[in-house]
Amino acid sequence: MSGKSVRIAHLYPELLNLYGDSGNIITLAKRLEWRGLTPEIAEVSIDDTPSFKEVDLVFIGGGSDREQRIVCDKLLAQKAELAAYVADGGVLLAVCGGYQLLGHSYLMGDEKVEGLGLVDLYTDRGNPRLIGNIAIESDLSPQPIVGYENHGGRTHLGAGLRPLGKVLFGHGNDGITGYEGCWQDNVVGTYIHGPLLPKNPGVADALLSAALERRYGDGALEPLDDSVELAANQVMVDRLLSGEEKE
Ligand code: GLN
Repeated sequence: MSGKSVRIAHLYPELLNLYGDSGNIITLAKRLEWRGLTPEIAEVSIDDTPSFKEVDLVFIGGGSDREQRIVCDKLLAQKAELAAYVADGGVLLAVCGGYQLLGHSYLMGDEKVEGLGLVDLYTDRGNPRLIGNIAIESDLSPQPIVGYENHGGRTHLGAGLRPLGKVLFGHGNDGITGYEGCWQDNVVGTYIHGPLLPKNPGVADALLSAALERRYGDGALEPLDDSVELAANQVMVDRLLSGEEKE
C-alpha cells in the first residue's frame, strides 16, 4: 500500500443518479483499489453541507428537472466554496443535469434558473429531447468516449470555453455545433451517462491522476489491465461508427 488516498465527494446520489451515474463512483474506487490506493468516498446527501476544503474529486450526476432544482438551490448556497475549490485546481466531474448546473443559468420550463457560474456556459431548451447512444473524440481519452445521452437542455459554450470533444455519433451539447461537454482546468462537464467511466477508463484515470497531482504533486498511475473495459468501449465504437445504429 502506498498510503495515498483520493477523497471523493459524491453530491446528492439520492437525487442525481440517472442512467447508472453512481457507477462512476464504483469505477473510481475500483481503479484506486486495484493500484493499492485508498478511495475515501463521502456520499453527500441533500441534508448535508459538504466542505470542499478536504476533497480531491467532486462528482455530480444527472437528474430530472425537479431534482435538479432541489440540488441547485442547495448548491447555490455554497457557490463561493465550490468556486474556490475549482480555482484551486479541484477536480470536478459533472454529468448532464449536473453539467447544466455548472453554467450561468438553465431553463426549467419557461423559468430561467441561476446556475453556479463555474464555467462560461448556459443552457436553454429545445425539442425534441436529445436521446440515444453517443461517441465523441476527446483529448482527455485515448479511445473515443462512449455512452448514452438523454436531455431536453441545449448547452451553449462561451467563446473561450473548450468543449470536451467532437461528436462522432449522437447529439452532444446542442445537436447543432457538433461539440460535446466542456473541459476547463480540472472541471469536466458532459452529457454522457451510461455511466461514463466504466467504458472510458482513460477518462477515469485522467481525473484520478489530476486529483493525485494536486494533492501529492505526483499524478503517476500504474497501468491496469483494461482489456475488458476497452473491449466494451470498442463494441460500442464499432456499432456507432459502422452505421449499424441510426441516429
Ligand atoms: N433534466 C435535464 C434535461 O432534461 C437533465 C437530464 C439528465 O440528467 N439526463 O435537460
